[in-house]
Amino acid sequence: MQSIFKTSLTPQQYFEQDYQKQVKAPENCPNCGRAYSLEALAYYHRYVTHLTAVLMIWVRRFLCRHCRVSVSCLPDFAQPYRAVNSATIEAGFSGQTQKPEVQHWGASLEVYWGRFQGHLPVLLRQVGNAFGALPLQPTAKGFWRQLLGQCGDLAGATRQLVHQFHTCLFGTYRCHQRRQLRTG
Ligand SMILES: [Zn+2]
Repeated sequence: MQSIFKTSLTPQQYFEQDYQKQVKAPENCPNCGRAYSLEALAYYHRYVTHLTAVLMIWVRRFLCRHCRVSVSCLPDFAQPYRAVNSATIEAGFSGQTQKPEVQHWGASLEVYWGRFQGHLPVLLRQVGNAFGALPLQPTAKGFWRQLLGQCGDLAGATRQLVHQFHTCLFGTYRCHQRRQLRTG
């Protein structure tokens, strides 16, 4: 499974500090809910942007001794399965086209917006009115504003979408779903 943790570090700072080595296990396993059951497993690498650069970062993984599910802990400046960082996506989706990084990643951001629009019907079924009452004919633009208004930023919105609704802005992924306990 994937868990997303709040951090004030930029991707660059996380990268320079090898911050993955300091990432603590969540107190409770996000899969089975058992407390203090996660032990260090390993790391995997992925890419994330910082302004107009691309960094390779390492992501901490843990293994639950109780349910045997592995849990990766993604810093919330990064999005699940998307290389462009949360702040740049937020700036792009909010129309801050004067920012160099928004211009630089413009083509990716357009693809991301299309994914968001495509996922919207499913996303809205999952979240209902959790981020405020939905209009009769919700639009991606309208829901985006609602989400930011409620959560403050995309990083916070993604934490809530993943942990509470097991989805994110761009799709519903297996890594955010709970698994059945293996018994016997
Ligand atoms: Zn567990």
